[in-house]
Amino acid sequence: MAGFREEKFGEIDGHPLLAYTKQAAAGQRRVYLSSGIHGDEPAPPWTLLRLVQEGCLDDRASWFLCPLLNPTGFVRQVRENYAGLDLNRDYKSPRSPEVQAHTGWLQRQSDFDLVICVHEDWEAQGFYLYELNPEKRPSLAPAMLEAARAHCPIEPAATIDGRAVDEPGIIRPVSDPLLRETWPESIYLREHHGTLHYTIESPSGRPLEQRIATLTAAITAALQAFLA
Ligand SMILES: [Zn+2]
Repeated sequence: MAGFREEKFGEIDGHPLLAYTKQAAAGQRRVYLSSGIHGDEPAPPWTLLRLVQEGCLDDRASWFLCPLLNPTGFVRQVRENYAGLDLNRDYKSPRSPEVQAHTGWLQRQSDFDLVICVHEDWEAQGFYLYELNPEKRPSLAPAMLEAARAHCPIEPAATIDGRAVDEPGIIRPVSDPLLRETWPESIYLREHHGTLHYTIESPSGRPLEQRIATLTAAITAALQAFLA
């Protein structure tokens, strides 16, 4: 990928675990993007590739990308890894080689200013997001929803994945992460790597190209607002 440094931080069943980084001048903000932790969610890795190809990840920031955290699930088109483990529940005391390698790589990075974990949801009818913003920074959620809405409906449900929405399409989990028995990647990142975190979700039932366009638009809008 143009201008990015490829770093292999692990290997699983013959597949490399790769991070791509691009450092801007000192003082620029640091943005982390990840995808592919659930192997049955193909739009997110394609979205990160599109952001790179379209030049969205330019010299406005330093970039840290982990585009395919679960390669053995991706090639099998299943949520879990090849051993049947949901990697996005393994971040509290990592047991899987993938998450051990990923958290090892994360521990070698400085804090991030913005984190976006990119996902898809088979049960959703529209785009939605989770926001973790403990320091009450300016929210990027309205910009993302507005951009996504041009490509896809916003999820209408009042309860998503067992959580009440805060506003249409926006979940702001309030439970103490230290009380949670399993940690997704986003909670680990919140605890150890920065301050403003999003998990964004496109609805899996829509055509792939529509989902990629939706996620690309949402991230582009978030970056526009955050780096302005
Ligand atoms: Zn997912």
